[in-house]
Formats: sequence, structure tokens, C-alpha cells
Amino acid sequence: MCGKRSKCSFSRLEVILIVFLVLMMAVTVVLLTLHFLSEESHGKCLSTNILLFPLPDATNERANYLLGVGRADCTGPVAEIPLMGYANPKQVGRGLLTHLYSRAFIVADLDDDSRRIVFVSADIGMVSQRLRLEVLEKLRSKYGALYRQDNVILSGTHTHSGPGGYFQYTLFWVTSKGLIRPTLNALVNGIVKSIAIAHQNMRRGRLFVNRGTVENSQINRSPFSYLENPASERSRYSSNTDKEMVLLKMVEEDGQELGLISWFAVHPVSMNNSNHLVNSDNVGYASYLFEREKNKGMLPGEGPFVAAFASSNLGDVSPNTRGPFCSNTGESCNNPQSTCPVGGATMCMARGPGGDMFDSTRIIGQNIYLKARELYDQAAQEITGGLSSAHQWVNMSDVWVELNATHTVKTCKPALGYSFAAGTIDGVGAFNFTQGAVEGDPFWDGIRDQLLGEPSNRTKACHAPKPILFSTGEMTRPHPWHPDVVDVQLATIGSLAIVAVPGEFTTMSGRRLREAVKKEFDSHGTPGMEVVIAGLCNVYTHYITTYEEYQAQRYEAASTIYGPHTLSAYIQLFRGLARALATHTAQDLPPGPEPPIFNIGNLTLVPPLVADRAPPSKAFGDVLREVRRQYRVGEVAEVTFVGANPRNSAENGTEHNFLTVERRTSTSEDWQVVQNDASWDTRFYWSKGIFGQSKVTIEWHIPQDTELGVYRIRYFGHYRKKLSISKAVSVPFEGTSSAFEVTAL
Ligand code: ZN
Repeated sequence: MCGKRSKCSFSRLEVILIVFLVLMMAVTVVLLTLHFLSEESHGKCLSTNILLFPLPDATNERANYLLGVGRADCTGPVAEIPLMGYANPKQVGRGLLTHLYSRAFIVADLDDDSRRIVFVSADIGMVSQRLRLEVLEKLRSKYGALYRQDNVILSGTHTHSGPGGYFQYTLFWVTSKGLIRPTLNALVNGIVKSIAIAHQNMRRGRLFVNRGTVENSQINRSPFSYLENPASERSRYSSNTDKEMVLLKMVEEDGQELGLISWFAVHPVSMNNSNHLVNSDNVGYASYLFEREKNKGMLPGEGPFVAAFASSNLGDVSPNTRGPFCSNTGESCNNPQSTCPVGGATMCMARGPGGDMFDSTRIIGQNIYLKARELYDQAAQEITGGLSSAHQWVNMSDVWVELNATHTVKTCKPALGYSFAAGTIDGVGAFNFTQGAVEGDPFWDGIRDQLLGEPSNRTKACHAPKPILFSTGEMTRPHPWHPDVVDVQLATIGSLAIVAVPGEFTTMSGRRLREAVKKEFDSHGTPGMEVVIAGLCNVYTHYITTYEEYQAQRYEAASTIYGPHTLSAYIQLFRGLARALATHTAQDLPPGPEPPIFNIGNLTLVPPLVADRAPPSKAFGDVLREVRRQYRVGEVAEVTFVGANPRNSAENGTEHNFLTVERRTSTSEDWQVVQNDASWDTRFYWSKGIFGQSKVTIEWHIPQDTELGVYRIRYFGHYRKKLSISKAVSVPFEGTSSAFEVTAL
């Protein structure tokens, strides 16, 4: 020891040891420094380095919020139910390509966790008023006043391949063949369950936002309407669609990844109206890819990471990027009426970018996923700041809009124009209707007047130049055909403002709305807000075009149901919400008229469930056509079973898995499940026979990266057995294919 009075002395050995240790430490520091620099240049860092050179990563910062994410199935019945979107009566479910999910995200204030925002993106055509009211009621009975109409946003992805039947207004009730309880229950239960999962998993975390452009994934499907907008306005934008994706990344305080929400404007109509398999379309495929990557080793639909690809101002945005062609002659039909020389508008369909709709879905979904991954990986702009939300119910039939000091206009009672019946290049209508119609047709007017009643002169004048096909706001039997009371809702998470719109805003409508909301925040002392539009929220009111686009009366304008000043009304209303949030006066906003709930019976045109029957000397689940003994990767393994109606398996809105692909493990005779029916590589087809007989065919499109080995395919169903005239039960059964070998190419 070296005391004050004693002279320090070291032996020669001690000196050598000390010098050696000092040298070793110096070398270690140099080596670690070099290692750190080389690792950092590759974008990685090891935890040991953090001790020496603190990095600005998640572990060193404080959480700003409590965050929760959750995903739950909301598929519902996959057979005999009309698919929601194209309004094509022939397009009913006949099986399943992928499951549909509700993805929920909760952000809560760290200091006061009763302040919350809930954002739900569900793989459905749109959120209906009935669905929202039932979800809010369930949330109220479960959580009291924690989740309310002002802080819960429900948004549909707008897939056109989900089951319909969850609407209370008569127009949708007619096109969906009634109020279909199994569909509605599956949606209500799935959405509430996803929120409950998020609620149970709240943890301290951080939010980051990023944005970037997605190329080669959209076209404007009404470019001639877009051109009606003022040249000075159009010249501010480089494209006739919004290519920007905004992405919100969620991580735990310790850096653990939780999930993401992205908003991007594209119609999920890569699957066209000839499809009969329930699926979540291009944006659902993007979710699938992201979640599969982050939930490694899990089956599709499982795992804690949740990636939502939510809708935005997609009103005039098609994913069918090769554009419209006449399906009979092959020539382009990119004209103001979208018509073909032979066959008219019914022949003019957009397609691409793939060889078929499955291919196109994958290409667009993959594009969206790849951009999201890049934005997610590079997201560095942190969101901080308080949470707020504002909501009003508004009678949209009766909104006065001050355009300027001297000019006041008014919205109209709902009505659909002639071009609504023409459909779009993503899904054509019927008969001789064409887009861009500014005059009615005496033949159809006559039929309408006889069957449904003539529109009043007031409504006609209010909607001009729209020729009215259905004056839905004046049709009230058996219940109103369209909503008058509509939700407007706005929520902020720090500098991010989410505008929840009740329909499909076109590109330019969305731009005007975002700009107006941003300006309102700016002028009330909250500059620099990032405003995103969440589409298809809360109640469905079809489309919202600009006033100028409205004049051209293509499909989107004919479907702008509250008349030419619909957009101006929404801009006024959402500015009011923004002002209330910026000035902390949202609690003083009048709540507005509560939406009605109609007492709708269970009358539907969906065929009633009958007793299932197996063919003579066969049982349910028996194989009718076997798999081959061997397949190469890239081929399609296919097996057909004696089946039963898939509706038996989801009768009460319950979740069900119809199939597995299983691999024989090398160590034992055990089978390991490697795919289920939520996979994009499996397809479940149901074909109905006569006298209660039916078949199920399962396809497995064997991916290139499949592990070689021995596999089998299994089917899980329920057959309906009559116990008495009024009583029946669903009996579970299963079937298994022979084993087959998957070999290399
Ligand atoms: Zn749409």
C-alpha cells in the first residue's frame, strides 16, 4: 500500500504487470473503437458499445406515451354472403383466400391515462353506422366512459372482398341482401376484441413519424374529372394522385417493436368483381408481409407485432395501373365516359400490373410494404405532445356553408346520380349507364318514378347538374335509404392530426381538406401539424369530390350524395373541430343529433342453412380427389374433400380455421403446422351441390422458399345436422389428404 508517510515501491514484476495491464486496456479501447466504427457504418450497433459511446437509440430516451396494439379476426361467413364493394349481386362468397383482421392501436397520456386515442383499421369495405354504434355500446359496457365516440376512430381498409350485410340504411340493406347477423357479429366482436387486446397490453413507449412516396402503385381512375380542378391548383402538384405514405411507428421504451399504422391512398380493388374468395386485397397483403417479417416463426395472423395499412383519400385512385381497356377488343377506353365502341361502359375495365388479379394484388401489396418498411426503418422524427379529440354528429342534409362574406350555399338531401349505376373502371355497372351523365333517361326515370318515387324539384335543383337516379334522401321505406346524421371526428397525437372522414374523398378533395385543417391549426397557435386523412370511417356516405369535379358527373361525383357543396361543408366542419382542439374548447362543441338505430329484423335473401349431406357411402371430410405424390416448389398442391357449408363454422360470428398445411418432422412421425387459412399461399374453395351436398377444394401454392420434405393438407369443417324441424346442430369434422413430397425445382 502507498501511505502518506511510506514510500511507494513496486517490485519489477509488479511494474511489468501494471504496464501490461495499461497496455491491454489501451488496446481494448482502440479495438472496441474500431469495432464500433465499422459496425456503425453497417448500420448496426452492439449493446457493449453503448456503454462506451452512448447512441441516440430508444433505450436512452424517456417514453412519451402508453401504447397498446392488438389484432383480432373479423372474417365472418365466407360463403353465400354478398361481398361488399362492387354491388354486384352475382359476387357472393365461395371460400377464403385470407382472413380479415381488425387492428387496434391505443395511445394514452403518461400522466393521465384516461386521455386516450383509439385508432382501428379493419379489413372491411367501410365502417357502417350500425357497426360503429354496436362497437361503441360494447366498449361502454366494458370500459365505461374510457372509450367514446370522440376518441375511438374506426376506419375500413376498403377491401372489396369482405362479406357485406352490416348496414342499417336501406340502400345497403337491399344490395347486401339484408342485415346479416353473422357478418355484423364477427365485425363487432373482432373490433372490440382487438381493442381489448391493445387495452391489456398498454406499455410505456415512443412514437415516430415518417413519410415518403410510393411509386408505380396507383392511377387516377377519373383523370377527366381531376382536370376540371383549376389549373393554378393542379400546378402545385406533380401527380393526379397523392403518392405520399405517412407512417406512424410504435416502439416500447426499451426499444421493443410494437407496430405501425400507415396511411396511403389506393383502392383495394386489385381483386376484381369476378373474385369469390374473401380476402383483404393489396393493403391486406402489405400487412401480411410486414407482420410475417416481424412475427418470425409464427403462423399467419399470430404474433404481437401489428401492422395496419389504413385507407386515406382514395376516392379516385385505382391500383389497376395499366389503365382501362375494352375487354372485348383490347383497345384503350381512357375517355371521359369510359366507354368502348362495342359494348359501351360495361366493357371498359382497368387491369394490371400483374397477369391476373392475384398477381396484381401481390405486386401492389409488395410495393406498399417495401416502402413502409423503408420508412419504418428510417423513422427518426419523434412525436411528442398531448392527445386530444373532437367529434360531432351532423345532419349533412342541412349544412349551410359560408363560401365567402356574400355567398352562402347549402348541402342537399342524399341522392345518387345516373353515373353511380355505371360503376367505375375498377368494377363496371350494368345496362346502358355511362360515367359523366349530366342528363337522365326517360326510360329509367319512368321505372324509378313507378317503383321508388320521383325526386322532388327541390332535390333535383339542389343536386344539379347531377341527374338523379335514386333520391335516397326522400326514400324512407322500410327505413331511410341513406344517413342524414354523419360523424365528423378529429384526433391529435402530439403534432399528428388524424381527420376521420365518413367516406371516400378524391385526391384533390383530400388535399383541400388537409390544407384547410392545417391552416386552422396554424392560425390558432398550433403550427406544423402533420395532417392525415383516415378514410371510410364511422359511417359510410360514398364519395366526396370537389365542386369542380362534381360538374363532370363521373361515378365519384354521382356518388357525392349531399350535393355539389359536400366538400365545402366538410371543410367548414373539420375546420371547426380543428379550431376547437387548438383553442382547447372541444368540450363546448355541440354534440349534434344522435344517429338513429333502426329495428331491422333478420329477414335476408341469403339462402337459409339446410342440413348438409355426404354422398352415398362417403363421410364428411373424405377425400374425393387426392393430391399427387410429389410436387416441386412453385407448383400447386390440390385436394378435394366431401365438404359442408362453411357458414356452419362461423354461424355466430366466431373465428374458425378451415385448413392447415403440415410438414412431417424429421425426428418423429409428428406433423408440424406450417400454414393455415390466413396464409396468402393457401386457397379454400367451397362449391355447393344439390340436396345439401358440397365439395371443398384446398390449394397450396407452394412457395419457392418451402423447406423440402413430406407434407399433408387438412380440412376442418362443420356439418349441419337436423335434430327436429326447428332444431339443428353444427357437428365438427375433419379430413386429411395423403402425404406428398415437396422437391426442389
Ligand atoms: Zn371505393
